[in-house]
Amino acid sequence: MSLTKIEEQVVGAKQGYAGIVKQGQIVRLTDIEGKQVIDFVVWNNNDRREKLSASYSRSRYFAPEGSEYLPRNTIGEGDWVMSTNCRPLMTILKETAERKGVHDLHHRMCNRFMMNVLGGVDVDGCHEIIGKAIAPFGVDYSEVPDPMNVFMNYPYDIGRNGFFINEPITKAGDYIEFRAEMDVLVAFANCPEDITTACNAGNCTPVKIEIFEDSEAEPFPVLDHYEWLHQELRKRGRVIEKAGL
Ligand SMILES: [Zn+2]
Repeated sequence: MSLTKIEEQVVGAKQGYAGIVKQGQIVRLTDIEGKQVIDFVVWNNNDRREKLSASYSRSRYFAPEGSEYLPRNTIGEGDWVMSTNCRPLMTILKETAERKGVHDLHHRMCNRFMMNVLGGVDVDGCHEIIGKAIAPFGVDYSEVPDPMNVFMNYPYDIGRNGFFINEPITKAGDYIEFRAEMDVLVAFANCPEDITTACNAGNCTPVKIEIFEDSEAEPFPVLDHYEWLHQELRKRGRVIEKAGL
Protein backbone atom coordinates (compact mmCIF):
# COMPACT_ATOMS: atom_id res chain seq x y z
CA MET A 1 0.00 0.00 0.00
CA SER A 2 1.11 3.54 -0.71
CA LEU A 3 -1.09 5.81 1.36
CA THR A 4 -1.67 9.53 0.91
CA LYS A 5 -3.68 11.40 3.51
CA ILE A 6 -6.49 13.36 1.85
CA GLU A 7 -8.39 14.50 4.93
CA GLU A 8 -7.73 15.00 8.63
CA GLN A 9 -10.14 16.47 11.11
CA VAL A 10 -10.31 16.56 14.90
CA VAL A 11 -13.92 16.24 16.00
CA GLY A 12 -14.51 17.81 19.38
CA ALA A 13 -16.21 16.20 22.34
CA LYS A 14 -19.96 15.68 21.76
CA GLN A 15 -19.67 16.71 18.08
CA GLY A 16 -20.40 14.85 14.86
CA TYR A 17 -18.99 14.21 11.38
CA ALA A 18 -20.30 13.13 7.98
CA GLY A 19 -18.45 12.71 4.70
CA ILE A 20 -18.22 10.68 1.51
CA VAL A 21 -15.52 8.04 1.22
CA LYS A 22 -14.72 6.61 -2.21
CA GLN A 23 -14.25 2.90 -2.89
CA GLY A 24 -10.77 1.79 -1.83
CA GLN A 25 -10.14 4.76 0.47
CA ILE A 26 -9.26 4.06 4.09
CA VAL A 27 -10.84 5.73 7.11
CA ARG A 28 -8.93 5.83 10.39
CA LEU A 29 -10.75 6.81 13.60
CA THR A 30 -8.45 7.63 16.52
CA ASP A 31 -9.44 7.89 20.17
CA ILE A 32 -7.07 10.75 20.96
CA GLU A 33 -7.18 10.67 24.77
CA GLY A 34 -8.62 7.17 25.35
CA LYS A 35 -11.91 5.74 26.67
CA GLN A 36 -14.07 7.46 24.05
CA VAL A 37 -16.87 5.70 22.13
CA ILE A 38 -17.70 6.63 18.52
CA ASP A 39 -21.16 5.77 17.17
CA PHE A 40 -20.46 4.99 13.51
CA VAL A 41 -22.96 4.57 10.64
CA VAL A 42 -22.55 3.96 6.89
CA TRP A 43 -24.67 4.25 3.73
CA ASN A 44 -24.09 3.04 0.17
CA ASN A 45 -23.61 6.49 -1.33
CA ASN A 46 -25.00 5.43 -4.72
CA ASP A 47 -28.25 4.11 -3.21
CA ARG A 48 -28.78 5.27 0.34
CA ARG A 49 -31.69 2.88 0.85
CA GLU A 50 -28.85 0.40 1.49
CA LYS A 51 -27.07 1.11 4.78
CA LEU A 52 -25.33 -0.43 7.76
CA SER A 53 -26.94 -3.52 9.28
CA ALA A 54 -25.54 -4.10 12.75
CA SER A 55 -27.20 -7.52 12.96
CA TYR A 56 -25.96 -8.76 9.56
CA SER A 57 -22.49 -7.43 10.46
CA ARG A 58 -22.25 -9.54 13.58
CA SER A 59 -24.02 -12.65 12.34
CA ARG A 60 -23.08 -13.15 8.64
CA TYR A 61 -19.51 -14.22 8.17
CA PHE A 62 -17.70 -17.19 6.66
CA ALA A 63 -17.54 -19.71 9.47
CA PRO A 64 -15.59 -22.90 8.68
CA GLU A 65 -17.68 -25.20 6.49
CA GLY A 66 -19.80 -27.59 8.51
CA SER A 67 -19.33 -25.72 11.78
CA GLU A 68 -22.11 -24.73 14.16
CA TYR A 69 -23.82 -21.43 13.39
CA LEU A 70 -22.52 -18.99 16.02
CA PRO A 71 -23.78 -15.41 15.68
CA ARG A 72 -21.25 -13.09 17.29
CA ASN A 73 -21.73 -10.15 19.64
CA THR A 74 -18.99 -8.00 18.11
CA ILE A 75 -16.76 -7.69 15.04
CA GLY A 76 -13.12 -6.72 14.65
CA GLU A 77 -10.02 -6.79 12.47
CA GLY A 78 -10.62 -8.62 9.19
CA ASP A 79 -14.42 -8.51 9.45
CA TRP A 80 -16.88 -6.84 7.12
CA VAL A 81 -19.23 -4.01 8.02
CA MET A 82 -22.32 -5.38 6.27
CA SER A 83 -25.26 -3.62 4.68
CA THR A 84 -29.00 -4.18 4.88
CA ASN A 85 -28.59 -6.06 1.54
CA CYS A 86 -26.05 -8.39 3.21
CA ARG A 87 -22.88 -7.36 1.37
CA PRO A 88 -19.85 -5.44 2.64
CA LEU A 89 -19.90 -1.67 2.86
CA MET A 90 -16.47 -1.57 4.50
CA THR A 91 -13.81 -3.94 5.83
CA ILE A 92 -12.05 -3.48 9.17
CA LEU A 93 -8.38 -3.51 8.18
CA LYS A 94 -6.74 -2.84 11.52
CA GLU A 95 -7.45 -2.02 15.14
CA THR A 96 -4.95 -1.32 17.87
CA ALA A 97 -6.97 -1.55 21.09
CA GLU A 98 -6.43 -4.65 23.20
CA ARG A 99 -8.64 -6.62 23.34
CA LYS A 100 -9.53 -6.69 19.66
CA GLY A 101 -13.14 -6.75 18.50
CA VAL A 102 -14.47 -4.79 21.45
CA HIS A 103 -16.88 -2.75 19.31
CA ASP A 104 -20.57 -3.15 20.15
CA LEU A 105 -23.24 -4.00 17.59
CA HIS A 106 -26.26 -4.35 19.88
CA HIS A 107 -26.93 -1.05 21.58
CA ARG A 108 -29.01 1.63 19.88
CA MET A 109 -27.24 4.98 20.06
CA CYS A 110 -28.05 7.43 22.86
CA ASN A 111 -30.62 10.13 22.09
CA ARG A 112 -32.68 12.88 23.72
CA PHE A 113 -35.09 10.31 25.17
CA MET A 114 -32.23 8.60 27.01
CA MET A 115 -30.63 11.87 28.07
CA ASN A 116 -33.92 13.12 29.53
CA VAL A 117 -35.22 9.91 31.07
CA LEU A 118 -31.97 8.60 32.52
CA GLY A 119 -29.90 11.75 32.86
CA GLY A 120 -32.52 14.38 33.53
CA VAL A 121 -31.03 16.74 30.94
CA ASP A 122 -32.51 17.85 27.62
CA VAL A 123 -29.40 17.58 25.45
CA ASP A 124 -28.52 15.91 22.15
CA GLY A 125 -27.50 12.28 22.06
CA CYS A 126 -25.67 10.47 19.26
CA HIS A 127 -28.84 10.20 17.16
CA GLU A 128 -29.41 13.95 17.11
CA ILE A 129 -25.69 14.65 16.57
CA ILE A 130 -25.56 12.30 13.56
CA GLY A 131 -28.89 13.68 12.29
CA LYS A 132 -27.42 17.18 12.17
CA ALA A 133 -24.18 15.97 10.55
CA ILE A 134 -25.96 14.14 7.69
CA ALA A 135 -28.59 16.81 6.97
CA PRO A 136 -26.32 18.64 4.46
CA PHE A 137 -26.08 15.34 2.51
CA GLY A 138 -29.84 15.17 2.15
CA VAL A 139 -30.26 12.30 4.63
CA ASP A 140 -32.89 12.60 7.33
CA TYR A 141 -32.69 11.85 11.07
CA SER A 142 -35.29 9.11 10.54
CA GLU A 143 -32.90 7.20 8.22
CA VAL A 144 -30.08 6.69 10.74
CA PRO A 145 -29.53 2.92 11.19
CA ASP A 146 -28.44 1.11 14.32
CA PRO A 147 -24.74 1.91 14.70
CA MET A 148 -21.47 0.13 15.07
CA ASN A 149 -20.41 1.49 18.46
CA VAL A 150 -16.67 1.73 17.93
CA PHE A 151 -14.70 1.12 21.15
CA MET A 152 -17.89 0.54 23.21
CA ASN A 153 -17.21 -2.04 25.90
CA TYR A 154 -20.58 -3.76 26.26
CA PRO A 155 -20.15 -7.38 27.30
CA TYR A 156 -22.91 -9.86 28.00
CA ASP A 157 -23.13 -11.02 31.60
CA ILE A 158 -24.70 -14.47 31.75
CA GLY A 159 -25.21 -14.28 35.54
CA ARG A 160 -27.20 -11.07 35.31
CA ASN A 161 -28.83 -12.02 31.99
CA GLY A 162 -28.05 -8.80 30.17
CA PHE A 163 -25.57 -6.52 28.47
CA PHE A 164 -23.72 -4.03 30.68
CA ILE A 165 -21.89 -0.83 29.79
CA ASN A 166 -18.33 -0.89 31.08
CA GLU A 167 -15.61 1.72 30.72
CA PRO A 168 -13.87 1.56 27.34
CA ILE A 169 -10.55 -0.26 27.22
CA THR A 170 -8.95 2.13 24.72
CA LYS A 171 -5.77 4.01 25.54
CA ALA A 172 -4.76 7.39 24.10
CA GLY A 173 -3.99 7.01 20.40
CA ASP A 174 -5.80 3.72 19.82
CA TYR A 175 -7.38 3.58 16.38
CA ILE A 176 -9.42 1.51 13.96
CA GLU A 177 -9.17 1.51 10.15
CA PHE A 178 -11.87 0.69 7.61
CA ARG A 179 -11.55 0.28 3.83
CA ALA A 180 -14.55 1.34 1.75
CA GLU A 181 -15.75 -1.55 -0.46
CA MET A 182 -17.96 0.84 -2.45
CA ASP A 183 -18.56 4.58 -2.42
CA VAL A 184 -20.05 5.25 1.01
CA LEU A 185 -21.39 8.06 3.13
CA VAL A 186 -20.01 7.68 6.66
CA ALA A 187 -21.14 9.57 9.72
CA PHE A 188 -20.41 9.36 13.39
CA ALA A 189 -21.16 10.97 16.71
CA ASN A 190 -18.45 11.44 19.26
CA CYS A 191 -20.68 9.97 21.99
CA PRO A 192 -21.80 12.67 24.48
CA GLU A 193 -22.99 10.32 27.22
CA ASP A 194 -21.20 11.32 30.44
CA ILE A 195 -24.03 11.33 32.96
CA THR A 196 -25.66 7.97 33.49
CA THR A 197 -23.26 5.27 32.33
CA ALA A 198 -19.57 4.35 32.12
CA CYS A 199 -19.80 4.42 28.30
CA ASN A 200 -17.13 7.15 27.99
CA ALA A 201 -15.74 6.81 31.53
CA GLY A 202 -17.62 10.00 32.46
CA ASN A 203 -15.32 12.20 30.37
CA CYS A 204 -16.12 12.95 26.72
CA THR A 205 -13.04 13.80 24.65
CA PRO A 206 -12.13 14.58 21.00
CA VAL A 207 -11.53 11.99 18.30
CA LYS A 208 -9.73 12.25 14.97
CA ILE A 209 -10.80 11.11 11.53
CA GLU A 210 -8.25 10.66 8.77
CA ILE A 211 -8.98 9.49 5.22
CA PHE A 212 -6.26 7.95 3.10
CA GLU A 213 -6.02 7.08 -0.57
CA ASP A 214 -4.02 4.04 -1.63
CA SER A 215 -2.38 4.92 -4.94
CA GLU A 216 -1.55 1.25 -5.56
CA ALA A 217 -5.14 0.05 -5.07
CA GLU A 218 -6.86 -1.20 -8.22
CA PRO A 219 -10.50 -0.29 -8.73
CA PHE A 220 -12.80 -3.30 -8.47
CA PRO A 221 -16.43 -3.88 -9.48
CA VAL A 222 -19.16 -3.53 -6.88
CA LEU A 223 -21.21 -6.69 -7.24
CA ASP A 224 -24.84 -6.97 -6.26
CA HIS A 225 -25.42 -9.03 -3.14
CA TYR A 226 -26.06 -12.37 -4.92
CA GLU A 227 -23.08 -11.98 -7.25
CA TRP A 228 -20.91 -11.00 -4.32
CA LEU A 229 -22.06 -14.00 -2.28
CA HIS A 230 -21.35 -16.42 -5.14
CA GLN A 231 -17.93 -14.88 -5.70
CA GLU A 232 -17.06 -15.38 -2.02
CA LEU A 233 -18.37 -18.96 -2.09
CA ARG A 234 -16.26 -19.75 -5.16
CA LYS A 235 -13.16 -18.19 -3.55
CA ARG A 236 -13.55 -20.67 -0.71
CA GLY A 237 -14.23 -23.63 -2.97
CA ARG A 238 -17.80 -23.97 -1.75
CA VAL A 239 -20.31 -25.68 -4.01
CA ILE A 240 -23.20 -23.51 -5.13
CA GLU A 241 -26.07 -25.98 -5.21
CA LYS A 242 -28.56 -23.85 -7.11
CA ALA A 243 -28.20 -20.58 -8.91
CA GLY A 244 -31.68 -19.57 -7.78
CA LEU A 245 -31.53 -16.23 -9.52
ZN1 LIG B 1 -23.99 8.09 22.44
